[in-house]
Amino acid sequence: ERDLLTVGEALVSLRSSGPLAAGGPLTMHLAGAESNVAIGLARLGHRAAWAGRVSDDELGEFVLRQLRAEGVDTTDVRRDPQRPPGVMFLERRTADVSRVRYLRAGSAGAALDVDDLRAPLAAGARLLHLSGITPALSDSARTAVAWAVRTAAESGIPVSLDVNYRAGLWSREDARATLTPLAGYAAVVIASTDELDLVTEAGADERDAAADLVRRGVSTVLVKLGADGARAWTADGVEHVPAVPVTAVDTVGAGDAFTAGYLSGHLDGLGLTDRLRRAAALGAFAVAGHGDWEGLPRRDELSLITGSAAGTTL
Ligand code: ATP
Repeated sequence: ERDLLTVGEALVSLRSSGPLAAGGPLTMHLAGAESNVAIGLARLGHRAAWAGRVSDDELGEFVLRQLRAEGVDTTDVRRDPQRPPGVMFLERRTADVSRVRYLRAGSAGAALDVDDLRAPLAAGARLLHLSGITPALSDSARTAVAWAVRTAAESGIPVSLDVNYRAGLWSREDARATLTPLAGYAAVVIASTDELDLVTEAGADERDAAADLVRRGVSTVLVKLGADGARAWTADGVEHVPAVPVTAVDTVGAGDAFTAGYLSGHLDGLGLTDRLRRAAALGAFAVAGHGDWEGLPRRDELSLITGSAAGTTL
């Protein structure tokens, strides 16, 4: 059985090391919140599958090859001969400022629909991970995500939902209207402090938002705090995990890495404190290396940044 099934859009990311300019170099990478999580879990030795639609051209092939090279199961990926790949530019404008530009409207990934998800959901998994990006991509993707969440809940597959608000895709009001009901089906909800009001009607106060989610059946609400670590709210109260101190060189992907670490700990049957420690360790690996996922650890590397004592339980 698969440990994790995740669904979303994988993008081709073109990165520059300086301002975008005629004749300047771009390097091609795989990007996508859910594929980042799948890779994080696969590197730790879990059986992770990613499902979605990719273009039926060399860029779709690139996405598949990257996922397969990382040991992610792509059996259920569908190729779309009609639509283009989703592409993003990540421009390092200055040493401190990177600009993102997406070319994803009308992409193969955005055309995701319920039929794409029937086979992977039927195959089963120990966890289903989704992000709030996918339902923002298209009407059919929104319907597909709602269907997947309900189907998982009916089959007893716990759902993890990362809010992942993208202002370029939809308004906060639209996001709240879609994500608040979805969150009620989730076992784990992951958010940044400024995203909590998108999964509850209880407002933006962290304690109120978490209490409302727990009352609606969410087991664990994870609130990411960047370099300050994270908090986990459960029916038993709240627990804080500090960040692992590292030199941050590229913060993109920290949230997805954190999620992968948390879900890995869940799959390994760890208690909350150890799940949070593994999450913080993966977040630290992500910010301490370049790329969204390239720096994520294999299992035998977990202790590299946390010291050997911590490494034994991580
Ligand atoms: P992104 O959208 O860039 O992926 P995010 O906003 O979803 O990030 P963050 O809160 O920035 O998520 O980071 C997730 C986790 O990664 C944090 O909870 C923390 O454990 C770790 N982390 C983030 N920044 C740092 C840092 N500077 N040093 C060490 N760990 C960090």
